[in-house]
Amino acid sequence: MKVLSLLLSFSLFLTCGGKKVKKENDYTKLREIMVKEQIERRGVKDKRVLEAMRKVPRHLFVPEDLRDEAYNDYPLPIGEEQTISQPYIVALMTELLGLKGKEKVLEIGTGSGYQAAILAHLCKEVYTIEIIESLARSAQERLKKMGYENIFVRWGDGFEGWPEYAPFDAIIITCAVPEVPPPLLEQLKDGGKICAPYERTPGVQILTLFIKKGAKIDTNYIDYVRFVPMRGKIEEGR
Ligand code: SAH
Repeated sequence: MKVLSLLLSFSLFLTCGGKKVKKENDYTKLREIMVKEQIERRGVKDKRVLEAMRKVPRHLFVPEDLRDEAYNDYPLPIGEEQTISQPYIVALMTELLGLKGKEKVLEIGTGSGYQAAILAHLCKEVYTIEIIESLARSAQERLKKMGYENIFVRWGDGFEGWPEYAPFDAIIITCAVPEVPPPLLEQLKDGGKICAPYERTPGVQILTLFIKKGAKIDTNYIDYVRFVPMRGKIEEGR
């Protein structure tokens, strides 16, 4: 009898453990499909970006009850009325930065920390700022637990940038802005890139790549997008 119950609990243990492994394998497959169907098919080519998108477990960045939707072709809520961007948009914005591996990158709008994790595979250091305290805290904990040692999270208004660690090679803004906050331009290296959803006309956001060229800025419009607006100091100018 004892042997039987021992056997039973052992097989129960195996089934539970097995289920978890199967689930992880399912997510790996879903990630492959996501990269092929949503990202490569729409024209993202940078091999390193595609590799990072294949690697980072996006399901760990969304609320538990939404994990099975993590690899679908749309943004998802992450609490505090904020969202994690659609996978394709994350890949596109990352590709636009043209990272090679040695860069210091600043992100405004940490949210879940997913975009920061993708960047962390592609550059030297990621500095990321989030204005909502609870999101900043949970992203920091999540990234630490996952073992990222080159991502630095700060709770604050990204409008001011992070002067202590400037200059940056690239800046990514993941909330919509009516202009590039001047401190961010100052903290960008010459030749550096800023990728942002630019809302020049209220209600119309265009993903834009700004390139700093001395005192001038090159502006390249990419595509229409939909992001939550930047909050804080930038609203004073509205
Ligand atoms: N990059 C995130 C998604 C960003 S959603 C991810 O990968 O999950 C946009 C985020 O920008 C929200 O979390 C919002 O709180 C934050 N945000 C808005 N205004 C901000 C500001 N002034 N400074 C820093 N973060 C800001």
